[in-house]
Amino acid sequence: MKFADLHLHTQFSDGTFTPEELAGHGARLGFAAMALTDHDTVEGCARMGVACAAAGIEFIPGTELTAELGDTELHLLGYFLDTHNEKLLREIARFQAVRQNRIHEMVAAINKLGVPLAAESVFALANCKSPGRPHVARAMIKAGLVKNLDEAFEWFLKKGRPAWVPKAKMSALEGIELIHQAGGLAVMAHPGLNRTDDIIPALVEAGLDGIECFHTKHSTAMSERYLEIAEKYDLLVTGGSDCHGFSKNKPLIGTVKLPYEHVERLYAARQNRKSEIGNRK
Ligand code: AMP
Ligand code: ZN
Ligand code: FE
Ligand code: FE
Repeated sequence: MKFADLHLHTQFSDGTFTPEELAGHGARLGFAAMALTDHDTVEGCARMGVACAAAGIEFIPGTELTAELGDTELHLLGYFLDTHNEKLLREIARFQAVRQNRIHEMVAAINKLGVPLAAESVFALANCKSPGRPHVARAMIKAGLVKNLDEAFEWFLKKGRPAWVPKAKMSALEGIELIHQAGGLAVMAHPGLNRTDDIIPALVEAGLDGIECFHTKHSTAMSERYLEIAEKYDLLVTGGSDCHGFSKNKPLIGTVKLPYEHVERLYAARQNRKSEIGNRK
């Protein structure tokens, strides 16, 4: 049976693997298709595409955007993006700049508590345009300020803790539109994590194409629930591990194996979208 992982992060955002390492794990696990969904960037897609091709794996270029609808935060996955689309690149660059400022704000809050962390050490470790909280946490571990990621998040970085700084979010409707105008399909990420089912009808109304039913942190009951919702609203079904690297001493990739039939439906939807746009021109 063929299967896919459509939610993956590399060093181009807060993952720890290079695209080549990630493709290598994909090959070892026998994946037929993989998508890269780094936060607010498509920069890793070129290398990931080459690495997947070399390993005989189909590759789908993507990203993960942080969005909001009213007061509800959600993550939007974009698939089959034109990674050279000007508007997409301009918008994500804006969010990358916000992420970089946010690192300075988090470090300042940490320093205010008397903990000596240098912003430069976070940027050096992140070495990417889309730095985030995991990089702050890893820099704190490296400096011997905390023992592990859990301590960094529990003591400093998680919502409500002293160094938590809210992240600027795109409006969900703009996010869907941004993905569409870049030739992509817009998918709601890990709905079970955010418990945001009440906003699904509005997202569907705004043109949402799919929903991530399978995710490492979804229980079987949750996956079944979202499969029903996908059916009800005629949404595409996706799934992925959301691998950021090692978790409990082994690579997280492999925890979710999306049956390939769903990838075929994504290809068909993308093809339909292309002909619709072609007909309009
Ligand atoms: P950010 O986008 O900067 O707000 O960081 C969000 C990322 O931090 C998520 O994608 C997770 O990878 C990671 N994360 C969030 N909460 C935790 C936690 N409690 N422990 C470890 N990692 C976390
Ligand atoms: Zn992440
Ligand atoms: Fe997410
Ligand atoms: Fe993710």
